[in-house]
Amino acid sequence: MIPPKIIILGAGYAGLTAALTFQKKLRTKEAEVTLVNKNEYHYFTTRLHEPAAGTFPHDKTRVDIKRLINRKKVQLIQDNVVEIRTSDRVVVLENHTLAYDYLIVGLGAEPETFGIPGLMEYTFNRWNINGVRQLREYIEYQFATYKNDPKRTELLTFVVGGAGLTGIEFVSELADRVPKLCKEYDVDTSLVRLITVESAPVALPGFDPGLRNYATSALEAKGVEFILGTPIKACNKHGVVLASGKEIRAGTVVWAAGVRGNSIIEKSGFTTTRGRVPVDGYLRAPGHENVFIIGDCALFTDQRTKRPYPPTAQIAVQMGKLLAENIVVTIRGTKHKRKPFKPVIYGTVASLGREDAIGQFGKKRVTGYPAVIIKKAVDLRYLFAIGGIRLVLKKGRF
Ligand code: FAD
Ligand code: NAD
Repeated sequence: MIPPKIIILGAGYAGLTAALTFQKKLRTKEAEVTLVNKNEYHYFTTRLHEPAAGTFPHDKTRVDIKRLINRKKVQLIQDNVVEIRTSDRVVVLENHTLAYDYLIVGLGAEPETFGIPGLMEYTFNRWNINGVRQLREYIEYQFATYKNDPKRTELLTFVVGGAGLTGIEFVSELADRVPKLCKEYDVDTSLVRLITVESAPVALPGFDPGLRNYATSALEAKGVEFILGTPIKACNKHGVVLASGKEIRAGTVVWAAGVRGNSIIEKSGFTTTRGRVPVDGYLRAPGHENVFIIGDCALFTDQRTKRPYPPTAQIAVQMGKLLAENIVVTIRGTKHKRKPFKPVIYGTVASLGREDAIGQFGKKRVTGYPAVIIKKAVDLRYLFAIGGIRLVLKKGRF
């Protein structure tokens, strides 16, 4: 019998976990598994706020995929996915066309722009290695430029759009970095402004009020200003314009105000909500028995609350693992052994820089160093799961 072809698009949390699960569970010649990714490396999106602010090297937040997979079991193709053609059961890449029997789409997220003019041109909004490396360099360049043109104090103003988890984790790291940059470039710290603009009336809307207050007070103490209940309505070369009409002149604007599914999915004709495909209990795209969507591209609804789960790495990993296990039993002719997806939400930890964090686990609340330890443990656990102790020692932040 010809082994079925399984194609996985994207080697992020979801796709890589699926590939590693196949690698573990499939017997030789049971299936041909191909993992397609645009880079030769997998990156740890959950830590990108650190290299973005320059507090941790970007190389520590990525790993060569070839070091993680067994290429006798999983073939790796480094290429850009261009289109998914379900009618022909093929995926079009820049340099290849691949036929599939089972297709797993884990292409991750893109910034949600809400149609805000100037956003793509004038903000840093790419939460990937190339994006954060550029942002880190740009931040430093602002300090260097200011010293040569000291009338332009706006160069030292940094606006972060969105006080969700990404915005808060990034501005916290930046607040940690500012004193070092000021020292390096002989800049008076009082000239630097870090402004977080949030459309909701509170920062970190998903957290309980006690933790929210803890986080905002901790950040205010580090010099972060908050403008709440005011959306950014336009971005331009001078900075941002708020819905209130106020303009903030800023040398750097960072966009962290939400994500949508990868646009390739919409372009390929799938029905989506904010670029995410509403999947069923077996993570299938509606109307497609053999096309599965996982991670940030999937919209999975909690049937109890009727609300979609937020796009997170913890869910992406669980989706990747369960889906691979379900495909293995299907290939073996024991489809009845498939399990529906039931995410387990362990909790949420938001880092507030190197030495502070908040965590919410059901009714349990944690702040300060214990929360920092939990956050580190979660990161290290993931490294261990994908690459064992060697990866933990090589890439871990202790
Ligand atoms: P990704 O991990 O983004 O992977 C997508 C992959 O697809 C990438 O390898 C990409 O290169 C590849 N790809 C994309 N387009 C193409 C293409 N056209 N062709 C080929 N390959 C392509 N979640 C948590 O649970 N906990 C956290 O602490 C946390 N922290 C975060 C911190 C930050 C700064 C950010 C931005 C997000 C954080 N998240 C966190 C959310 C989490 O990172 C995402 O939910 C998770 O990365 C989604 O996994 P994924 O596999 O769907 O996508
Ligand atoms: P988000 O959607 O969670 O937060 C975006 C924030 O931007 C919201 O508070 C929203 O009100 C605000 N906003 C929207 N439009 C705005 C505008 N025009 N002006 C100002 N503010 C605006 O997005 P995110 O923080 O990028 O997170 C994306 C996903 O990744 C979420 O599911 C999140 O849970 C996950 N994540 C998790 C962690 C963690 O667990 N530590 C860290 C980062 C991200």
